[in-house]
Amino acid sequence: MAKIEMKTPLVEMDGDEMTRILWKMIKDELLLPFIDLKTEYYDLGLEYRNETNDQVTIDSAEATKKYGVAVKCATITPNAARMTEYNLKEMWKSPNGTIRAALDGTVFRAPIQVKGIEPCVKNWEKPITLARHAYGDVYKNTEIKVPGAGKAELVFTGADGKEIRQTIQEFDGPGIIQGIHNTDKSITSFAKACFNYALDTKQDLWFATKDTISKIYDHNFKDIFQDIYDKEYKEKFEAAGIEYFYTLIDDAVARVMKAKGGFIWACKNYDGDVMSDMVSSACGSLAMMTSVLVSPSGVYEYEAAHGTVQRHYYKHLKGEETSTNSVATIFAWTGALRKRGELDNIPELMAFADKLEKATLSTIENGKMTKDLALITSMKDVTVLNSEGFIKAVRESLEAML
Ligand code: NAP
Ligand code: MG
Repeated sequence: MAKIEMKTPLVEMDGDEMTRILWKMIKDELLLPFIDLKTEYYDLGLEYRNETNDQVTIDSAEATKKYGVAVKCATITPNAARMTEYNLKEMWKSPNGTIRAALDGTVFRAPIQVKGIEPCVKNWEKPITLARHAYGDVYKNTEIKVPGAGKAELVFTGADGKEIRQTIQEFDGPGIIQGIHNTDKSITSFAKACFNYALDTKQDLWFATKDTISKIYDHNFKDIFQDIYDKEYKEKFEAAGIEYFYTLIDDAVARVMKAKGGFIWACKNYDGDVMSDMVSSACGSLAMMTSVLVSPSGVYEYEAAHGTVQRHYYKHLKGEETSTNSVATIFAWTGALRKRGELDNIPELMAFADKLEKATLSTIENGKMTKDLALITSMKDVTVLNSEGFIKAVRESLEAML
């Protein structure tokens, strides 16, 4: 069988530990035999990041801007323990943070739903995609522990020297104060990324804040979303048969619990942090969660939502068998290949991505899975496979379909 040809290379960002092992197996077993795979390779493994003073991460982000689509393996974000373990020159920043900042992107996360692994919320028939605004608010705050009586004020000094001043509180004893901010530019990028992704995936978009209480701060988010929607997206949404709607965050939470899924839920930074953990844990496994970073200019970076699965890697190094789930990493590749096929007009590449996803899910539905899923499945008598065994089983299903 002839291999599927590609036109533009994918930006390939290799990573660390157990996911680096899975990365190679996925390429060898599921991609290279079927596709004339074109990638521009960047090694974001911690050793090479250290060797290049993290320049490789910056280069990979620039390449993503140039080509438009990247696929990323999970990477280590160094902490004190990693400094010693890898003998690092510096505590390099999170690659995801660096890439996100370079692309000014928004992260969309969605669970991969499969028969036999049902979400705790019974009515969630389709995945709920969570979009988290990844800038500002409480994540970039300034806090003061108020020692005793006194007056707290909020002061803005304009570039022209003009002051805006408001009293926060007249304290008559100890307390706390916090200053947070956001920018119209960042909120606008977030809104556009959400509207574009909704159109891209043909799903409704929900956005919620607490504008009834925060009449300026949260209201500004609501107004920016509405303004951009009315001016740039309303007609496109109507043509696509999808809906944008704004509601209060508490109302959104209540509705989400009763909903069938199949929509995008856009959240402010803190809400997104909390709610994405809720959605993912209700869907069973971190290993079944995809993640895509979308820039407002339409650049895409696909990855798995989980980390490098360090504990399994250390077992692997000791020569012990591992049963690490490669589904989210496979879906990172299929997401990127499908998008590349769409942009370059290669229907066979898009069809291959669909088939590989189907083959992956049908392998699980036929009772062959890794240990993490075997522990939570509603199916009886399943076969628990090791890391490599699962990927080989997917290859068998795929070959039967091709
Ligand atoms: P992790 O890699 O997400 O794994 C945490 C635990 O979740 C594992 O020990 C395992 O549980 C389970 N798990 C996660 N993915 C799995 C999979 N594919 N198959 C089976 N089980 C899976 O988080 P971590 O161990 O806390 O972090 C390791 C490294 O990943 C850290 O250095 C961190 O910086 C990095 N990280 C990177 C990213 C990214 O690149 N996007 C994201 C998060 C973390 P059991 O041990 O119980 O089997
Ligand atoms: Mg969290």
